Amino acid sequence: MKIVHVASELFPYMKTGGLADAVAALSSALADKGHDVAVFIPGYRVALEHKDAVGAARKLRVKAELGNDFLSGDVRVFSPRKNLRVFLVCREEFFDRRAPYGNGERDYEDNADRFIFFCKAVVEVLRLGDLQADVVHCHDWQAALLPVLLREAERRHGVTLALKTIFTIHNIAYQGVFPAKTFARTNLPDELYHIDGLEYYSQINLMKGGILFADRVTTVSPRYAKEIQTPEFGCGLDGVVQTRADDIVGLLNGVDSAVWNPATDPLLPARYSARDLAGKKVNRAELLRRCGFAADFSGPIFGIVARLTEQKGIDFVLANADFFIAQECRLVVLGSGDQRMEGELRGLSDVAPQKVHFAAKLDEPMSHLIEAGADFFVMPSVFEPCGLNQMYSQVYGTVPIVSRVGGLADTVIDADEKPAAGTGLMCEPDAASLRDVLQRALMLFSDRPRYAAVQQRGMARDFSWKLAAAGYDRLYQESL
Ligand code: ADP
Repeated sequence: MKIVHVASELFPYMKTGGLADAVAALSSALADKGHDVAVFIPGYRVALEHKDAVGAARKLRVKAELGNDFLSGDVRVFSPRKNLRVFLVCREEFFDRRAPYGNGERDYEDNADRFIFFCKAVVEVLRLGDLQADVVHCHDWQAALLPVLLREAERRHGVTLALKTIFTIHNIAYQGVFPAKTFARTNLPDELYHIDGLEYYSQINLMKGGILFADRVTTVSPRYAKEIQTPEFGCGLDGVVQTRADDIVGLLNGVDSAVWNPATDPLLPARYSARDLAGKKVNRAELLRRCGFAADFSGPIFGIVARLTEQKGIDFVLANADFFIAQECRLVVLGSGDQRMEGELRGLSDVAPQKVHFAAKLDEPMSHLIEAGADFFVMPSVFEPCGLNQMYSQVYGTVPIVSRVGGLADTVIDADEKPAAGTGLMCEPDAASLRDVLQRALMLFSDRPRYAAVQQRGMARDFSWKLAAAGYDRLYQESL
């Protein structure tokens, strides 16, 4: 099958969160199965500077119509593995920037133009006949315009550009909502600026377009597929998602074992497996050292790696600051984003530097060290489409503490509720419930055999992308 993925992130060329990991692992798994896979991402500065992309062939020049403007760009191509090609859509004005979506707290003002251009460039590559697609699989709002643009281009030019389109919602909280005047930049027929089209409370909503116009819609866990049909989790699009209730499936992301495997992880000081956990102790010691904590500390270390946003339940953690100060435990937080949360976490680590460590940066090696060296991973998200870190944690023998939402509820089993099957601990998404579960974690940690059993069950679970990719493969076949 010829499969084209279109996304704004792809690990290791651009990553701000799980989207990058998911698109990378899915496209690689499909390529390994023998499919012919292409992935389009914008030609961001860091992507072009990546060693794989340096010297990437300039494949073609594209022109895209945005309103009355014709904007040109280059498409560069390289192949990081067999059956997989990466297409970088380049236009310096739009993508030669440090960050993909904005500077710190604010989104770039030209984001609508940037991603409309990106989608139109993909249509042009397909239209120029340089690439054929059985399935065009679009991810999140940045690629959500593509299904309708493709159908419109096919109508206009009397050709077939893609047999089927798939749209995956990785996070419905980010929808790509822009002022009504943006609609003109799409050059779509006026009738699509309508309640049954892209119009959304007198603005345009790109994700809504993806949900309505793709042949099939997926999201990243079965529970989230149901949740986003409710007002509580649908972020205003629950009604729109309901119109596709028969077509929407929730397929869990997997763990990319080439990157996240404690037995082979090159970013760790020591490697280990379920059978021999000695290396995990070495990583724990290195984590204590890196955080400036006393080397002989033997109590539980709680780890957090997250984008600092409301979604991740950081406020529930902050509301329990006194717990981390009073109890015999350590807290390590790696994450950046919301300035207030960064300030409060920094305040907490300033008050108790011997107990709480905070690093406000993106740090891939440190994220691996936390997964490997901590005893518990804390992820009390308000909502969580799938979540990756709770799966990494189980694979790394680090017991996850999660809230009962979305993919977290689908991938973690509470050890107190199901003593024979538990792989983690679960709370409700609120501060008081997190407090209770942190207390339960202390009890679990003090019962070494029980802790070890929970840890072993987590490490024995199969979260591989082989399973996850098989689900997508079936979906493509069915839709074709
Ligand atoms: P989301 O996509 O909502 O951010 P996920 O749990 O699906 O959440 O994926 C988050 C990914 O981003 C994980 O791979 C996690 O390790 C990584 N990550 C988040 N913050 C950082 C950071 N500060 N440094 C390194 N990796 C990070």
